[in-house]
Amino acid sequence: MLVFKKREKVQRHVIITRQAADGIITWSKTHHPNEAILILQGRNTRDAVIVDGLVIPPFAQSGPFFSGFSVHDLPYTIPNVGTAHSHPGGSNRPSLEDLNHFSGYVSIIISHPYEDENIGAYDRSGNSLEIKIVDSV
Ligand SMILES: [Zn+2]
Repeated sequence: MLVFKKREKVQRHVIITRQAADGIITWSKTHHPNEAILILQGRNTRDAVIVDGLVIPPFAQSGPFFSGFSVHDLPYTIPNVGTAHSHPGGSNRPSLEDLNHFSGYVSIIISHPYEDENIGAYDRSGNSLEIKIVDSV
């Protein structure tokens, strides 16, 4: 069942380090035209989800790639604030399946050709979040 929450007063945003953003870009380019997925590490604050690390899901190290996975497949020892995955074709909008498999606080989606401006971030409801790439957090 879908629950529609009221929009929060503070517009939440996503802060990601240059290094983590480059990691997502490189990982996506490496796997093109397949989808690539990564686990996001960092922390969640009231105003922002801060991403400063990436983990390669153990079950995604060999093909065929699929981005729909269950959070229950993740080793519980990996702290995560969300996931990032690529859309080799089309837009970086989340699909219904993406939202159904939402894990953590943010879903980062990057579409071809995998540059900074192709990165999108979404909350659990599929609302677009502002994303800021910073040198360090
Ligand atoms: Zn997707």
